[in-house]
Amino acid sequence: VLHLTGIRKSFGDSEVLRGIDLEVAAHEVVALIGASGSGKSTLLRTVNLLERIDDGVIRLRGEDISDPRVNADRVRARIGAVFQHYNLFPHLSVIDNVTLAARLVHRMPRADAERRGRELLASIGLAEFAGAYPDRLSGGQQQRVAIVRAIMTEPELLLLDEVTSALDPELVGEVLALVRSLADGGTTILMATHEMAFARDVADRVVFLDGGRIAEHGPAHEVFTAPREPRTREFLARML
Ligand code: ATP
Ligand code: MG
Repeated sequence: VLHLTGIRKSFGDSEVLRGIDLEVAAHEVVALIGASGSGKSTLLRTVNLLERIDDGVIRLRGEDISDPRVNADRVRARIGAVFQHYNLFPHLSVIDNVTLAARLVHRMPRADAERRGRELLASIGLAEFAGAYPDRLSGGQQQRVAIVRAIMTEPELLLLDEVTSALDPELVGEVLALVRSLADGGTTILMATHEMAFARDVADRVVFLDGGRIAEHGPAHEVFTAPREPRTREFLARML
């Protein structure tokens, strides 16, 4: 589904992505791990065209979406994305948050969008909050609503950037459980995470970023149980 080739990105003099080659196949879950500043968020933001790359090619289902002539809004409509913070519009009710993009961008009729939105909210136990504003919800509930909103229109790819790292520890589990159920349901996911146990259990493949390069990648069970690179071993020893 996603093919990255030779991705480079600098901010001023500092090169943050130094030639990233990565593929995510349909229904695959790929976890990006690595130290703070290694480039995980920047990489996710380039895929969503929030950062323009300096070099390389990004293909989504074969289409070169890194071509500057491509309409970024049209690409983003095909990709779901959830970040660490501030995902919901505070002045919109939960159901309006969930249905807005589906109605405005995907032209889903309101009745259909609301039906699907309510089904998804019910599936995460939040049906009763449909009419509430986000500030009535816990952080974990808000993140689950944000994830549900991102999958409303069945995106080709779901990007998740540290969706649990701003949460109180007791709220992390409910968000990870939702991501796990999406993964089990076949959603294609590229996620940056500090939750090593979660990455090990849920990801098919793990990509270890070190200073803007892929230092190691492979099946999750291999990278976690038998990392080949000293840098990966050091990192995992600190994280586990
Ligand atoms: P973390 O685990 O802390 O989320 P990360 O792996 O996501 O880290 P990035 O956020 O991608 O790391 O940042 C990589 C580097 O790029 C950092 O040195 C950061 O300071 C720098 N950087 C990111 N965005 C910008 C920007 N808009 N302008 C300048 N520098 C930036
Ligand atoms: Mg980050």
